[in-house]
This record gives sequence, structure tokens and C-alpha cells, in this order.
Amino acid sequence: MKEDNQQSKRKFFELGIKFGLLATAGTVLASKVFGDEKPSEMVELMSTDGNLIQVPASEVQEVSLKPKGYDPRVGFPGKKFVMVVDLAKCKNALKCQTACNKGHYITGDNAWIKVYKMQESEKTAPYFMPTQCQHCDKPPCVKVCPVDATFKRQDGIVLIDNERCIGCRFCMAACPYGTRVFNWNEPDQPQIVHEEEYTPDHCGKPSVKGTVDKCDFCPHEIVKGELPFCVKACPNDVFAFGDMYEDAVTNGSGETFKLSKLLTDRAGHRLLEGLGTEPSVFYLPPVDRLVDFEESLKNFTGYESVHKKE
Ligand code: SF4
Repeated sequence: MKEDNQQSKRKFFELGIKFGLLATAGTVLASKVFGDEKPSEMVELMSTDGNLIQVPASEVQEVSLKPKGYDPRVGFPGKKFVMVVDLAKCKNALKCQTACNKGHYITGDNAWIKVYKMQESEKTAPYFMPTQCQHCDKPPCVKVCPVDATFKRQDGIVLIDNERCIGCRFCMAACPYGTRVFNWNEPDQPQIVHEEEYTPDHCGKPSVKGTVDKCDFCPHEIVKGELPFCVKACPNDVFAFGDMYEDAVTNGSGETFKLSKLLTDRAGHRLLEGLGTEPSVFYLPPVDRLVDFEESLKNFTGYESVHKKE
């Protein structure tokens, strides 16, 4: 029953995102009620003006959200994608990492999401912190790339075109968050990743020896109206994803929050704010944490000391 609820909530969100993006793309979803037909299940969607509306599930169309003339180097016009990570909820379940690895065909140590065990001082309680590319608004990695292989789209997503990447790793040196990985060896990926036409929209498909990889914010999923893999996979709703311009983010259970209020109420912040990189990932501090740390440590696999403050 719990699972059913979970799935239905998740569906709600997915449809909600579809609606928001569709409305922006100028597509109108009709909500007619047909006389003799059995009333279909209603779903709640968030409109682009932030209101919740009820729409028959049967009326929500499965369509591609790609704007006409969609360019993977430009992205979605009029969008600014953001993520919120709630540190009070992370139990180191690592489902985010597993789902990301699977969805992007990443193997070995090249995971794009790393979960660090953090402790501010000996007297404070430890907590877990997932990190990935922060999709900076002013990304130093982009500035230093000599061949324009890494770039920021107008919707804020920073991507890598591995057909351009020459493996100089300047971007890795420039990134203050250490979120990029290098393919030192021939990636062990199934044949399927080589069969489709290459697009920088789907980093890691394929990964190429001698090039750099990193979190791509899953534009290949957004375009289908889906949440990024990590958001959907997290059983603790640590992640919420959405559009800054719509002032809304939604977690994997389908709960939608007003972004500005969430950040104000929960003292949201960005990593290394003083550097001026202006990340698109916001963190909510681990206060009133809901985590049994000893229990969570059972899954702990590493990444301990990098961010630890003494
Ligand atoms: Fe670039 Fe690092 Fe910022 Fe990602 S986190 S956009 S790799 S500087």
C-alpha cells in the first residue's frame, strides 16, 4: 500500500513536470470531461504560475518535451534548473549513486555522485553529504577548456561534449568542488551505449577513454518529463529538483516546494559561496536530523576526510 502511494505520488510529480514544461513550450493540455465515460483518476499538477490544479490522468499526454529545433548545447529556453539537497535526511543509502551509475552506464570508481561523511568538529554530530557537479552559473571549468568541450547551456546545465574533449583535464583542476572524473581506462560499458547517435545531452553514453565525465543533471530524463535518476531513486527524499524561474522544486515522492521559501525557512546555502561560482545546487543544513548515524554507517564506503573540517 505504501509502495502504491509512493508510486502514485511519484507519477504526480512526473506529470507535474511535464505540465510545467509543456506549458512553457506553448502546448495546451485540455481537461475535458467526457459524458458517458467512467471518470478517470484525477491527478494534481502544478501549473507554471505555481497553483495546484486537478486534471484527469487520461488527459495528460505523453509527448516529447523537446522544443522545436532543440539544441543540446542550448537546452530548454526559459528554464533554470536547480537542485536542493536536504542534509538532514541523508542516511547514506547510496541509492542515488547506484541509480546514477546504472542510468549513465558508469562503472568502477568513476561515480558522479559521491557521499561524504562530514563532521564540522569533534563536538558536533557527523552527517552525510552527497556531492556532484554543482552546475555553477559561473563555471570555472568552462572558462579554462581550450576546445569548448565543456559548456553551460542557457538552462544552467553544464555539460561535456566528449567528441571535443582532448583530455587535458584543465577543467578538473579548475573545479573547486572536485566533481569531475577522468576515464583513465577503456570504460566497461555494454554495446547498447554505442548503438545510438551520440549527444552531449547524455554524458556517459558512451564514456570515452581519455576524456572527462561528470553529473549532467539528466537532461535526457528532463526531456521525457522525468526527474533526474538520483532524485527518483532516493528513498529518503534527500533531493528535490526544479526550475528556479518557476520557484518550485519537487522531490522523488512528488512533494513540491516553493524554492525561495524552502531556502529561507531552512537556511539553504551553496558550497564555497565566496568563490563566486554561483552553484545551482543548494544544501539544507543537517539540523533536526532524522538519521540514526550509527545505523547509516553500515553502508559507508569511503569519502571521509576530504571535506572534514578540524
Ligand atoms: Fe564546473 Fe565543477 Fe562547477 Fe561542475 S561544480 S560546473 S565541474 S566548476
